[in-house]
Amino acid sequence: MATEVQIERRTIQSFNPATGELLREIECQPDAEVAQAVLRARQAQPAWNALRISKRIEVLRNFQDLLHAKKTDIARAITLEAGKPVVEALLTEVNVVLDSARFCIENARSFLHDEALLHRSLAMKTKTGRILREPYGVIGIISPWNYPFSIPATETLAALIAGNAVILKPSELTPLIALELASLFHQAGVPKDVFQVVIGDAPTGAALVNSNIDKLIFTGSVATGKRIAQTAAARLLPVVLELGGKDPMLVLDDADIDVASSGAVWGAFVNAGQACLSVERCYVHRSIYMRFVEACVAKTQQLRVGSGLDPQTDIGPMIHERQLRIVEAQVEDARARGAHVLAGGERLTHLGPNFYAPTVLADVNHSMTVMREETFGPVLPIMPFDSDDEAIRFANDSNYGLAATVWTKNQSRGEAMARRIHAGTVMVNDVISCFGISEAPHGGVKASGIGRTHGKYGLEEMVRIKYLDTDRLPKMKKLWWYGYGEAFTRQMEGFVDMQFAKSSAQRLRGALRTLGLLRRKEQL
Ligand code: NAD
Repeated sequence: MATEVQIERRTIQSFNPATGELLREIECQPDAEVAQAVLRARQAQPAWNALRISKRIEVLRNFQDLLHAKKTDIARAITLEAGKPVVEALLTEVNVVLDSARFCIENARSFLHDEALLHRSLAMKTKTGRILREPYGVIGIISPWNYPFSIPATETLAALIAGNAVILKPSELTPLIALELASLFHQAGVPKDVFQVVIGDAPTGAALVNSNIDKLIFTGSVATGKRIAQTAAARLLPVVLELGGKDPMLVLDDADIDVASSGAVWGAFVNAGQACLSVERCYVHRSIYMRFVEACVAKTQQLRVGSGLDPQTDIGPMIHERQLRIVEAQVEDARARGAHVLAGGERLTHLGPNFYAPTVLADVNHSMTVMREETFGPVLPIMPFDSDDEAIRFANDSNYGLAATVWTKNQSRGEAMARRIHAGTVMVNDVISCFGISEAPHGGVKASGIGRTHGKYGLEEMVRIKYLDTDRLPKMKKLWWYGYGEAFTRQMEGFVDMQFAKSSAQRLRGALRTLGLLRRKEQL
């Protein structure tokens, strides 16, 4: 009797977060299809890597041209699925990706060129060495929903230019924009099997981690990152983990209050606070605290919340009810522990299902979850400090270490403070915009992750380093090969003395003893 195998089919649903309207329901790809996609990528990658670099650069140029031509359509598609204002989608997603393509195009040749290794090893003088940068093969990318275009696109550009094939598993909340990205890459000339998207939820991501990929670039929460790191460790799969943040903003006593308060408001509320680099904790010198708080409240009250498709909108919806509940719980916890809600602090249900008012909290402290755990929502908690040392202590009192900002009119004072903060990036007098500098490395310390994306260090994550060493005297046996004995040991002692003895007399004696090596006959 034939047994019927039941294959469980899961689906994901993409919604417009501003209206709750279902945009599309898509079936999750089963594990076997994920494995098949990786196999196809593995078969297609050698030909992609064998292309001359000028050809891969040409494909990236095509991609850049196509994206530029469709910039407004892509920005609107991002807004439809992720909620952010179209102008933010244009600047923080489309423009970032165009510039990242520019960086890869300009730097690919020199980066992938063999690098001569100069060395000063006396014993190895007959050797010439080179560093080769070779692609891993198949790179898996798992990405979040908050920057559903720029995060996977910048990582993919770096992987592709280095000669890898890519399998992207986008967030289950933003699959449609990933399909747009695939369409752009394929139209630009990236072979279908060299860039593939696998659609699905967490188990689909897990299937990709467990598949035969050669490296994984993961961007998402700390909890998922830790789970993935455990799975990866079992088979020593190399991973880059770009995880959450709880970024501090330090406003020193000499800061420009108007500039810093505008920076705080934008840095806390851009993308409805759902940015890994957003201001999550704001510390202000007590001498300017009240004036700073008042300025933040006044500016927050002027912000217009609404649909991201309306050009007047400053803040769109949050992505999902689940994310909104986290924000509500943190604000309620802070309120219960004595924080004052000076602006916002409530849902805006009349606007749609996922709107939360931009919120300013004063009188917060580190016992509150809003100061300890990632909020990922439009909340600006502000706390005073009394000295620079105390500000540094507050900033470093966190499990996270993604980025931080320091605000002061004195550049060298700001930079000195920046050096004392435990973070992957510290900006002085600006916030978040470092993500738009394609040359700048992006990544965290502590629970915020491992490894880097963007820039030269991001490219380095996409290649394996191979050391190629060629001996220029192929007919000569090496002096240190077998044929050991008393005389050889003395000569070697001399060789070590010649290089490292403190006194010049001992170095000279060592050199004379080393000369005996030239008469060495009894080698195997
Ligand atoms: P998430 O961890 O819930 O999901 C991220 C991705 O991982 C999604 O595609 C999801 O489907 C997948 N996933 C979930 N469980 C998985 C598993 N067990 N195995 C494999 N894949 C799995 O994160 P999110 O809610 O989508 O994103 C928000 C988080 O991302 C925030 O913490 C934010 O700070 C962080 N983030 C970090 C950066 C950065 O560069 N450091 C950038 C953006 C977002």
